[in-house]
Amino acid sequence: MSGRGSGHVLALDVGGTKLAAGLVDESGGVVRALRAATPAGRYVEAEDLWRALTELLDAAAGDAEVTGVGVGCGGPMIWPDGEVSPLNIPAWRRFPLRARLAERYAGLPVRLHNDAVCVAVAEHWRGAARGHRNVLGMVVSTGVGGGLILDDRLVNGSSGNAGHVGHVTVDPDGPPCACGGRGCLEAVARGPALVAWAQAHGWRTGADATGVDLAADARRGDPTALRAFHRAGTALGTAIASVTHVCDLDVVALGGGIAEAGPPLFGPLRDALRARARMPFAARVQVGRTAFGAASGLIGAAALVLAGDRYWAEP
Ligand SMILES: [Zn+2]
Repeated sequence: MSGRGSGHVLALDVGGTKLAAGLVDESGGVVRALRAATPAGRYVEAEDLWRALTELLDAAAGDAEVTGVGVGCGGPMIWPDGEVSPLNIPAWRRFPLRARLAERYAGLPVRLHNDAVCVAVAEHWRGAARGHRNVLGMVVSTGVGGGLILDDRLVNGSSGNAGHVGHVTVDPDGPPCACGGRGCLEAVARGPALVAWAQAHGWRTGADATGVDLAADARRGDPTALRAFHRAGTALGTAIASVTHVCDLDVVALGGGIAEAGPPLFGPLRDALRARARMPFAARVQVGRTAFGAASGLIGAAALVLAGDRYWAEP
């Protein structure tokens, strides 16, 4: 579907705390983007969320000519059907998001993928990993997600779940993970786990502190915050070394609030990676920050439609 005529793709990024809708042009430029808090609370029903979403979509579309709809949404989901059950949005369990959008935008392509996959796609299409054929894109925030591009194409896997780097084991005896396993990267490096670890080790802060606050303290040199990011960076470097060996990667692009810690995270990450990625093909992998901030989810979602030859392959 790449190379469609003029017009814009309506892009949507559905997260547990924020909804974003935007209009993206063919070159990946975000022409207009709007954000709203995700309706939350025990009385929020599936249709309340749908209404909030469609209002945001209408405001983002304005009177532009829309040629397709691309969506990134928190997992898990049934892919490619687009029945979504985002962990952080309890009101949606097997909500038929793709089908509802296809009904609303009849005749237009509507494509939906995991939100972390969309970030990986954005970075490969127009961001930090542009021009590289083998890329892992990662988001480290409340969870740890990822997407995998090999030989210049998005890899979906059997069920659309390829790229779940958050559940690579980094410590067989490590903390339990929400997935039911133990010692997953996500269980060690996700923001809330970092905050809990830092608080247990004497980090003095308010009760509602987040990983972003911890990152700010690490940049200021707080010793406990630095130790927390050392632990997370080591886990990330260990997981990235494993994935690099399996997939023969060129580039890993890391985004999300935890990656904003900068050197306190990337120093230990690169040390762990250097220690474990020893064979020449693996040692050459480059790791850096993503180029896009909050807009990456929208840009990647739009690319599902605008560059579907590389990023959309429905089984
Ligand atoms: Zn896990």
